[in-house]
This record gives sequence, structure tokens and C-alpha cells, in this order.
Amino acid sequence: MKKIAVFFSVLTLYFLIALLAVTYLKDQKILVIKGGTLIDGTGKSPVENSIIIIEQKKIKAVSQAGKIHPPLFARTIDARGKFIIPGLVDMHVHFLNESFSDLFLLNGVTTTRDMGNNIDFIITLRDKINQGILQGPSIFVSGYLINNRKIPFGASQYTAVVKNPKEARKIVALLARRKVDWIKIYMTLPRNLVRIIIKEANKYKIPVAGHLRRVDAELAARWGIKTLEHTTGVSEALLGEENFEDAPPLWTISNKTWLHVDRTKYEGLIDLFLKKNVYITANLTLYQGLSSTPDELKKNPHIKLMPEIFQNGWKNYLSRRFLELTKDRESWKITKKKIEEFIILFKEKGGKVLTGTDTPWPYLVPGFSLHKELELLVEAGFSPMEALLAATKYPAEALNQEKNLGTLEEGKIANLILLNANPLDDIRQTQNIDIVVKDGIVIQRERLYRSLLKRQKSSQ
Ligand SMILES: [Zn+2]
Repeated sequence: MKKIAVFFSVLTLYFLIALLAVTYLKDQKILVIKGGTLIDGTGKSPVENSIIIIEQKKIKAVSQAGKIHPPLFARTIDARGKFIIPGLVDMHVHFLNESFSDLFLLNGVTTTRDMGNNIDFIITLRDKINQGILQGPSIFVSGYLINNRKIPFGASQYTAVVKNPKEARKIVALLARRKVDWIKIYMTLPRNLVRIIIKEANKYKIPVAGHLRRVDAELAARWGIKTLEHTTGVSEALLGEENFEDAPPLWTISNKTWLHVDRTKYEGLIDLFLKKNVYITANLTLYQGLSSTPDELKKNPHIKLMPEIFQNGWKNYLSRRFLELTKDRESWKITKKKIEEFIILFKEKGGKVLTGTDTPWPYLVPGFSLHKELELLVEAGFSPMEALLAATKYPAEALNQEKNLGTLEEGKIANLILLNANPLDDIRQTQNIDIVVKDGIVIQRERLYRSLLKRQKSSQ
């Protein structure tokens, strides 16, 4: 009799241990971040002593610590003294190399939008990251950029050339079949083709981004463009009667049109953008680069983390194309000032500016350049909170991902950054990263940085 009692109590004990183990393993899939000051990306005031409960990829609950209780065995990160912001978005990149993934993640850039690439490469990379086969930031892709002629600077394979309405319709259908997230139109496309492409893209519910020139931003806004890249097309719309339809093909971003804009037209154009819900990817980093001297550009301490092929390409650029582009450096400085003046007014009237860098445009290192863009927005007159919105909430909206990305709220994907100091006091603190979380997975910044340095050294 006694033996049987012992047998049953041992059995019960085993059962309890097994139950505890199962609970423990289950709860280890839960991540709790406790005690940090939460800047959730909605624009609301920070919440001190917060708690975030993450299960798998998603945020299960966010609150003030003490108001909700985490499961007993969950993995917990002590975030006391830290500041938590959503993962950042770079809305204009050319993701030319898989190695960019680490550079983005190292900097807390958990989402990117690719604005022109080799279509097979970028779609494969996007899908592998989405399926969890590769670790990297999420990528929203345009595949090709569409123009009426090939563009130079080694990017000709990224261009889909269309010459007539039939080809314009065909390329949009093809891109829709390939499941791109965006359509990107380029500088010298004539009016009739731009209009057809936007109309066709709307049929497939694919948003359109434009690096404009020949068609100005006013016309493109009326026709339904969603984002203006590098603030292009705006100065053209602000000029007097000039007509760019017959302008000679210009490959580069012009540094002349902003010098002659008509300020009395600012408000009218901004009203149209607001009515049409047009976003501006300001891209101040690009204009900063074009206003700099070669020595200033070479000073960037992060160049050493770039694959050598890019470092060499950039050196080449400095000795040739850069000299030609920046013959009149003063006019680039004025251009940058005028763009700042315009986007500040746009922002003050309720317009939404997005952070985008055009990396790997020379000397713009993936990830690091996004933080530079934030700094430049604040220098231009954004508050740190407004700059953060341009890199979190607004990109999520523009990407039609506000249900998943951009803010730290219940049900969203767990993409976030733990900072060592308050970015609302000084926006440069967004670079003072402790931990990055992408899709609920924790990345220790310092460890990743050291492994990248090591990899770089051994490849040289
Ligand atoms: Zn670009």
C-alpha cells in the first residue's frame, strides 16, 4: 500500500516538473522589456518606467510597469535608465549588397524601401528576409526605376526603359506580376507616360514614388503620386512659367532650379500636397554631401565598414563625377537652405516628411546615414520628436503598414531600439544604441559592431 502511495507521489512530482518545464519553455518565447522610458512613436509624451511584453514577433502589451504583470519565466531585459524608440525606417535606399543588412540593423534601421535595383536580386532578398531565412531589415521594393532612357553611373540594369504608352502599360503590369511594393518613376519621363504609369499603378493599388524633373511635383501630385524623392519636382513647380517638358535630359539632380523659385507659390503648392496626401522624402544628407568638400566627405569614420568595392567606387566618384557635380558648391548650399525652408513650412502646415538617404550614394553608409538625416532635420528646425516621427510613424503610413509598423503599440511587430540616453534632449542620442530588436529578436549592438569590424579586417 505504502509502495503504491510513493509511486503515485513520484508520478505527480514528475508530472509537475514536466508542467513547469513546458511553462518555462513556453515563457522563454516571451520577451519582457521593463523599466525604460518609452517614446512610442505616436508623438505622445514619453512613458517612464514602462513595460513591453513581446510574444514571438509581436507586441502583446505595452503599459506602465506595475499595471500589467509579465509571465513568471519570461526572458526579461532590464531597461532602467534606457530610452525605447520604434525601429527606424529609411525610405530611400538602393540595397545593392546583402552585407548592408548588418549595417542597417546595427543602426536600428529595421525597415527600408528600395528605390531601384536589380529586380531579381531585390525581390529574392526581400522574400528571404520576410521568411526569416536571412536576418535583415524588411525591404519594400520598386524593382526597376522607370525612365525613357537608360541612366548612367553603373545603374543601367536598374532601369526599365519605356518609349510609348503601350510600353508604359506593359511595364506596370509586369511589375505588378512580380509583386513589387512601389513603382518608381524617373527624371526624363515625358508627361504622357508619367500620367499613364500613375493611372495604371493606381489600378493595381501600387503607390508611386518619383524622382521628378520633366514633370513637376504639382502635376504629379494632381495625378496621384505618393512620395517625392529628394524633394524633387518641387522647385520645378515653384518656378514661374518655365516648362520642363522640352528641357534637355539632365541626369543629375539640378542645383539651379531652387535658386529661382517663387516664394509666393509655396503655400498654394503645400495646400495641394496636403489635399492629395503627398509625402516628401527630404533627403538632406544628399544635399549636405553635395555642399561638402572631398576632405569633409572622406572624414566619415564609418566608411571602413563598407565592402571594399563601394569604398573604391566612392574614391573614384570623388576624383571625377563629384568634381563635375559640385563645380558650383555655393549653389548646392543655397539649394539645401531653400529645401529646408520649404519642408519646414510644409511640416508646419501639417505635411509629413519622411527620412530617406539614398544610401549607398557616395559617402552615405547604410544605417549610419539615417541618423545623419535625423540630425540634419533637427538642424533645419524640426524638433527631435518631429524628426523621430519622420523616421517611424509617417513612413509606416506611407508604406500602408500602420497596422504593423511605426509605433510601439499592442499588436504591432516588435521592432525597437533601446538607447542609452534621451533622444528628445539631443537627437544624436539615437546613435547611442544599446540593443536593437527586430521581429522580436534581440541584437546586441556592440557585439554586432565588433564582429563587423573583424569581418572587414579579415577581408582586407
Ligand atoms: Zn535613389
